[in-house]
Amino acid sequence: MSTKIWLSSPHMGGTEQKYIQEAFEANWIAPLGPNVDGFEKDLEAFLNAGVNVGALSSGTAALHLALIQCGVEYGDEVICQSMTFSASANPIAYCGATPVFVDSENETWNMCPIALEDAIKDRVAKGKKPKVIIVVHLYGMPAKMDEIIAVANKYDITVIEDAAEALGSNYKGQKCGTFGRFGILSFNGNKIITTSGGGAMVCHSQEDKDKTVFLSTQARDDAPHYQHSHIGYNYRMSNIVAGIGRGQMEVLTSRVEARRSMNKFYQDLFDSIDGVSVFVEPSADYYSNHWLSAIIVDANKTGKTREDLRLALLEDNIESRPLWKPMHLQPVFADAPYYGGNVAEQLFNNGLCLPSGSNLSDDDRSRITDVVSKIFS
Ligand SMILES: *Cc1c(COP(=O)(O)O)cnc(C)c1O
Repeated sequence: MSTKIWLSSPHMGGTEQKYIQEAFEANWIAPLGPNVDGFEKDLEAFLNAGVNVGALSSGTAALHLALIQCGVEYGDEVICQSMTFSASANPIAYCGATPVFVDSENETWNMCPIALEDAIKDRVAKGKKPKVIIVVHLYGMPAKMDEIIAVANKYDITVIEDAAEALGSNYKGQKCGTFGRFGILSFNGNKIITTSGGGAMVCHSQEDKDKTVFLSTQARDDAPHYQHSHIGYNYRMSNIVAGIGRGQMEVLTSRVEARRSMNKFYQDLFDSIDGVSVFVEPSADYYSNHWLSAIIVDANKTGKTREDLRLALLEDNIESRPLWKPMHLQPVFADAPYYGGNVAEQLFNNGLCLPSGSNLSDDDRSRITDVVSKIFS
């Protein structure tokens, strides 16, 4: 059996262990310390928007704390892009709030601004104004932020940006993660850079960052004994994993370049195959990190389905995955309201994510080429 080619696997830069070693030598084996501070500073510098970043245990935790800081409570409604990973929506349920799902548009596969406005109007007509909008930059592709923010401002609703997949992407020159009241990042093992598991909250004031850190470290009041006036969480990042993050920040730019060249590889590979389109930026306003490269297969034109290709790849030990199944089609969210048409559903039916890692070799690429050529010959 040939070695497995993964969709997206960790890719260490080489200096990560140096930072971990320093943590051991100084005995900073805790959810605070120089690596946590350093990693936050590195992210702030990279995002280049005067932001304050708080390092947390996961992207999911960041989203949960973002909702709490936006005042989301039991019985509230939160609008969420349907075409996403479940971690975008689960924290809404943690708050006892109801998700209201919104369809995607065909250009960026992210939240459709028209369906968003329809949703807001209808929820308001039904007597409840949604408290927050969670917009996602799926697979690293920036959402239509000008349009989304215009709708949010029109109805005075806060935007939280789920940039878990989009570190290194930008929209009109502004880095993803810096548009919303809060932006969230993930450093899970499959993301563009990883700390093995981790996340971050991007804030626009020191006050919001301080509140994030306060809530993520059990909400301890300023007193010599343990004193609490708020419910707290244990969501801070460990100084050990932050060391991995500092090493990864040294190579982030080259990781973005490598993922983008994987996308170029797929553009070339499918160029001559009528009926397969590679997911690319709709215009020069969008710059995707191409965390995952994806294709849409038109079975009427190719005579092959997305599943035919997925299974053929699997046969050669190459991982691929259907596009994320929309949240409004998930059994767990069957009762949640949904607004839009069938854009997300069609993407799910015909789309496939392909191996996209920054560590793929020429040999890996030729194995992928062989399977694709065989299936579509
Ligand atoms: C990975 C991911 C998350 C969750 O991040 P974790 O660090 O795994 O908790 C949230 N939203 C999206 C879109 C993701 O891809």
